[in-house]
Amino acid sequence: MTYAQHFSTRKTPQTEQADPRQVKNSAGGYSFEITPWQRLDRFLILGCEGGTYYATERKLTIENAKCVQTCLADDAARTVEAIATISEQGRAPKNDPAIFALAIAAGVKGPNSAIALAALPRVCRTATHLFQFCEAVKNFRGWGTGLKRAVAAWYNQHDERSLCYQITKYQQRNGWSHRDLLRLSHAELKFPVVGRYMATGAEGLGDRQVTRKQQKLPVTYASVGELPAYLAAFEELKHADAKRTIELIRAHGFTHEMVDSQHKNNVDVWAALLEKMPMTAMIRNLGKMTSVGLIAPLSEAAKTVSSRLGDAEYIRKSRLHPIAILLASRVYAQGHGDKGSLTWATNPRVLDALNEAFYLAFGNVQPTGKRTLIAIDVSGSMTCGSIAGAPGLTPNVASAAMALVTMRTEPEWHCVGFSDRMFDLGLTDKMRLDDVVHKASRLNGGGTDCALPMLWAAGSSVKVDTFVELTDGETWQGHIHPHQALRAYREKSGVQAKWGVIAMTATSFSLCDADDPGQMAFVGFDASTPQVLAEFAKM
Ligand code: CA
Repeated sequence: MTYAQHFSTRKTPQTEQADPRQVKNSAGGYSFEITPWQRLDRFLILGCEGGTYYATERKLTIENAKCVQTCLADDAARTVEAIATISEQGRAPKNDPAIFALAIAAGVKGPNSAIALAALPRVCRTATHLFQFCEAVKNFRGWGTGLKRAVAAWYNQHDERSLCYQITKYQQRNGWSHRDLLRLSHAELKFPVVGRYMATGAEGLGDRQVTRKQQKLPVTYASVGELPAYLAAFEELKHADAKRTIELIRAHGFTHEMVDSQHKNNVDVWAALLEKMPMTAMIRNLGKMTSVGLIAPLSEAAKTVSSRLGDAEYIRKSRLHPIAILLASRVYAQGHGDKGSLTWATNPRVLDALNEAFYLAFGNVQPTGKRTLIAIDVSGSMTCGSIAGAPGLTPNVASAAMALVTMRTEPEWHCVGFSDRMFDLGLTDKMRLDDVVHKASRLNGGGTDCALPMLWAAGSSVKVDTFVELTDGETWQGHIHPHQALRAYREKSGVQAKWGVIAMTATSFSLCDADDPGQMAFVGFDASTPQVLAEFAKM
């Protein structure tokens, strides 16, 4: 017998440990573990809604919450900075994980909660975020002085116009209203009329006597004066006819949430709304605007929408996340909403513009000119769960979309799929996003061996400078670990190849050996990943 056939440090089956730093992954293979800081980033960007093939949403949420606590115990200021930065830079498709993590931080006993509460306006930029935060934080702490002050400060950071906008656009959420928050925070608002309006509505601005249950004596509130013009117009909007509604929208910049439902099918009202419509609202309402006839073939609206979607600067400023565009494109292409009975005739020009906007949302990615092999994990586990809780956005579909960015940027690329065998996915950089998504959603192919792309390249004598793997990292089936296969590839090919692994789920596993500077773990659908990946490939 040959002893070396059973034990080698250069070639270990994935079901056995190849390195003392490795731990067992959920699929039963051995992988490296990322640091709590890396896991924090993964959670903040990918979230864990819908769980993964191997772990439920509940289990992953608990694990990730514990990871937030570990980071807080290690360095609270750094943790809060990570949460606030990822949130305000718009690197994550959804703000929910950041709000949840901030609520955990605000619930920590001692001086560190003040650090978290100071970051409240950075993470909670809309009143809806604030409601979400208040709903989450009640699981971690009570309404002490610090929280009261922070919520009061949130309202008082706004000027009058922007405060009025926040309270009319986002009136309530999850059973929370501005009135509740005023009561709980005892906030003294800079603008007392607006404060009274929040507490009582337009009816309560004059002298008022209130008898509270606990107190026997009536309390008198003195008259506070006239409503600001914006709020007076908002009150008028509630009962205005279509013509007046349009005038009010133009004069005050009211949004579709504020318009009375009787006008929601009026094409002229939507035309007025579109004039100053924020980008996120615009891509969410493309179906509606097409359905009412505003976005029609050769229309001004189709032209306006397409030109806004082609404006890189505008997209960057609106912090529009590529996932938001991907989802908008998926829904708009299908010609009907996910729920309800809304249908429309998809405008191909707008769909093309969405496709281009997707790439713009990743920022300006410079080509590296390196020979790049893009390998997409299409194993069974990649079809479970969803990225950032987005319906239908399974890790394999998201991977294909993410791969398109590299395919469009790099002049020298080849794209393959792998599970426990290799696949030709037939993806090209000329394909439109919705086609790729459609194609990828049909792939579902068995077990996982993340070493295959390297073995394939070695076996076919393909020269690769950068391997880019998109995977959930739950590798288990191969006879050699992926980092060993990379080493073997480098030896055989003579190319000092790099290997970037893009994680598509918020687990703690990594295929990369962190001690090798030529290997690096990335977070899937971080809006900054394509740029950082290019930097890594160029190094
Ligand atoms: Ca798998």
